[in-house]
Amino acid sequence: MFDALTRWRRRRVLERAAIPDALWREAVALLPFLAIYSDDELGRLREKVVLFLDAKGILGARGHEVTPLQRVIIAIQACVLVLELDMAYYGGFENVIVYPGEFVPGWEWEDEAGVVHRNEGPLAGEAMPGGPVALSWPDVAAGADWESTGMNLVIHEFAHKIDMRSGDANGCPPLPAGMRAEAWKETLGAAYADFCARVDRDEPTEIDPYAAESPAEFFAVLSEVFFADPILLVEEYPDVYAQLAAFYRQDPAPRARRLFAEPARSGEP
Ligand SMILES: [Zn+2]
Repeated sequence: MFDALTRWRRRRVLERAAIPDALWREAVALLPFLAIYSDDELGRLREKVVLFLDAKGILGARGHEVTPLQRVIIAIQACVLVLELDMAYYGGFENVIVYPGEFVPGWEWEDEAGVVHRNEGPLAGEAMPGGPVALSWPDVAAGADWESTGMNLVIHEFAHKIDMRSGDANGCPPLPAGMRAEAWKETLGAAYADFCARVDRDEPTEIDPYAAESPAEFFAVLSEVFFADPILLVEEYPDVYAQLAAFYRQDPAPRARRLFAEPARSGEP
């Protein structure tokens, strides 16, 4: 009964909140890393985007007006992470806030010693446990293509959201059955230590050095690289790639290799 009702609601939302074809195509064309997905996968992604936009408000702040195209671009990138996962991964929060530029978050937090800190910012993006995801639109727009070498703000913040399903972000999201937490912690811990050592030595890294900030940032930055430049992650940290592939249930690297090996498609049938 419950399943039938859920399915009925889902169908209602998909019909009522459908995205016009032209808008969908325009958004997909602006996100070249989607080129690895089949038509069937893009169809499923589109359904998830419709459900996401039905469930979440995407709200402009400080005078920013969110256009229909911006809503879809943000939702697509958020939903790429959960393409093969349940939408329940994004339960527990209602809104995405979009700023016209970097923003100073107006909140304070108390550490374990009871000292109150104020986050100074400015930030390009922020995910709060149990609260909204905040994004600076120019930073979303800058990180959407392959040329940004694996940087993608929306994927970064929504990876934090997935990490926060078990409380504060710590780099170890709740793992599905069949994945071992010890293997995850060992693999990501060893890669994190190696990466921090490289950053400490001032070694130039193609992966954003910000990943050395904390295990939570390491997970979020490497999730960006996993989706937006998967070949780089396989080359740098193949064991982390394997963990993320098992976690997200996607294997983008061989597909990206095939895509780049193929000559660009022309107009032939
Ligand atoms: Zn972060």
